[in-house]
Parts: sequence; C-alpha cells; structure tokens
Amino acid sequence: MIGQLIDGKAIAAKLRGEVAEAAAALRKHPGIAPTLAVVLVGDDPASAVYVKSKTKAAREANVDVRDHKLPQSTTQDELMSLVRALNDDPIVDGILVQMPLPPQLDSDAVIRALDPAKDVDGLTATSLGNLAQGRPTFVSCTPKGCMRLLKEVNAHVEGARAVVLGRSLLVGKPIAMLLQNANATVTACHSRTRDLADEVRRADIVVAAIGKPELVKGDWIKDGAIVLDVGINRTAEGKLVGDVQFTAAAQRARAITPVPGGVGPMTIAMLLANTLRASARTSG
Ligand code: NAP
Repeated sequence: MIGQLIDGKAIAAKLRGEVAEAAAALRKHPGIAPTLAVVLVGDDPASAVYVKSKTKAAREANVDVRDHKLPQSTTQDELMSLVRALNDDPIVDGILVQMPLPPQLDSDAVIRALDPAKDVDGLTATSLGNLAQGRPTFVSCTPKGCMRLLKEVNAHVEGARAVVLGRSLLVGKPIAMLLQNANATVTACHSRTRDLADEVRRADIVVAAIGKPELVKGDWIKDGAIVLDVGINRTAEGKLVGDVQFTAAAQRARAITPVPGGVGPMTIAMLLANTLRASARTSG
C-alpha cells in the first residue's frame, strides 16, 4: 500500500458526533426533536439489516426514529396512505422508504408521493432537479458522503478530470452533478462506454459505482489519482469487495477507499445529516 487509506469509518464517526451535538442543541428548543420515519416493507433480510443500522445510528445521534414495518403483502394503496400520513405529520422531519420494495409495489410512484421537504434520501425529482440547477436541497446520501471524503483528503476538485463509473439516480448521476457543480470536468461512464480503461486512465478522481467485483483494474489508475470505490459486491467465498482491484490500485493512487469501511459508513452519517437539516428547516 503506497497511497493514503481513506478511513470512511473514522470520518463517518466524526460526522455522526457532529450531528449528535447539533441535534442535542436543537432539542433544547421546546417542541423540537429531529425525527426520522423509517418505512420497511416486506422481509428482505439485507433491507432489514440496513434499517436496523440506520435506526441505531439515528438514536445514537439524538435523532428520534418512528419505525413503520409493513408486511410483504402490502398494497400500493396502503403504502401510499402511510407516505401521505407521514408527509402530513408535523412531528416527522425526514422520511426514508427502504428500497427495494416487494415486486407488486411501484417505487417510482412512492418516490413521487414523498414531500420533497422530507426527502432525506434525495430521491425525488425536486431534490434531483435542485441539484441539477446547482442549488442542492437534499442530496442523496452516498454521493454526499463521497464529496465529504474528497474534502477530508484535501482533493483539488476544481479543474480536476473526474470519471464517474455508473449513472444510477441513486449514486452515479448525483455524484457526477456534485463534481460538476464543484467545477470538475466530469466524464460519466456506463455499460455502453466504449473503452472504460482508457477513460479511467485519464482521471484525477475516479468514482466507481457499478456493482461489478474488481472490474476496475489497478493498472488503469493514473499515478496520484484519488479513488472512491462505492461498489459493494460479495464474492463466491463470501468476502466483500468493491468495484476496484484495491491492492493494485493502492500502489498508484494518492488516496483510496477500502471496501468495506470506505464509502459505506458515510451513507448512514449523511442520512443523519440530512435529517438534521430537515429538522432545522422545519423548525426555522
Ligand atoms: P445500479 O443502479 O445497478 O447501476 C449500476 C450502473 O453501473 C449503471 O449505470 C450501469 O450502466 C453501470 N454498469 C454496469 N456494468 C458496467 C460495466 N461493465 N461497465 C461500465 N458501467 C457499468 O447500481 P447502484 O445502485 O448505482 O449501485 C452501484 C454499486 O454501489 C452497487 O455495488 C451497490 O451495492 C453499491 N452501493 C453502495 C452504497 C454504499 O453505501 N456504499 C450505496 C448505494 C450503492 P447502465 O446505466 O448502462 O446500465
């Protein structure tokens, strides 16, 4: 390992501490308690684990959690009624609907129904549109976490050549917009990109968010580049790996995130930061 290891776990812990302090200060005002509603539909074990860790982290950061667990058989009408009730509930500052939803449910319709003022996951068209216009309100948590990691390693984003691998609404597109808003020159790559290696070789900043184990080879990384690996993939042996060949890439990178312990922990920390922001906005 030659490059700096970006310790997302430690940075996220620091951020969660900052949120806890700010939330405690808000709670000193009568009637104000930052509150996150968490909606989990069905019995997907991975979603249950994510919700459990988000709930625990929120409570540790002085953020109240309203848990809503709905059965696998939930209908669209039932879920939409719950979302509307949470939109109207003045106690609730932020709403998180854990994805993916069971197959009978239309997640786009659920996202459309969310009040943008409570969209702490940054998924609504309003949140994404505000980001595209350079006036972000709620930014999706993983991309927001990536930008914070770049700040922590003093990355020179302005004027840098940034290559983003992946163009999902949750990760790739918002990170590309954030980097562009920060004056990087951004190339957005996807499954039809003709020569991925060639694009990555030119990058000062690489953000890999494709979900393919170690697809990005170490020798694609330019000397001195910063590498953020968003990918979470489980190998046949049950090991977690990212989208980047970590050991080889670390020989060339100036700084790189490990998987696990890099970008992942930042996602929950940013969810709490967004909830705090929602609470501060609604309470003036
Ligand atoms: P997604 O919706 O499946 O999107 C994957 C993107 O990668 C798509 O844009 C796809 O291109 C592109 N892609 C797929 N194969 C490719 C290839 N061979 N070459 C170039 N591009 C390729 O996934 P996602 O939700 O963005 O998540 C991406 C990864 O990040 C997953 O491993 C996920 O588990 C992880 N993740 C981690 C966190 C965290 O907290 N660390 C949070 C969210 C997601 P097309 O658009 O052309 O199909």
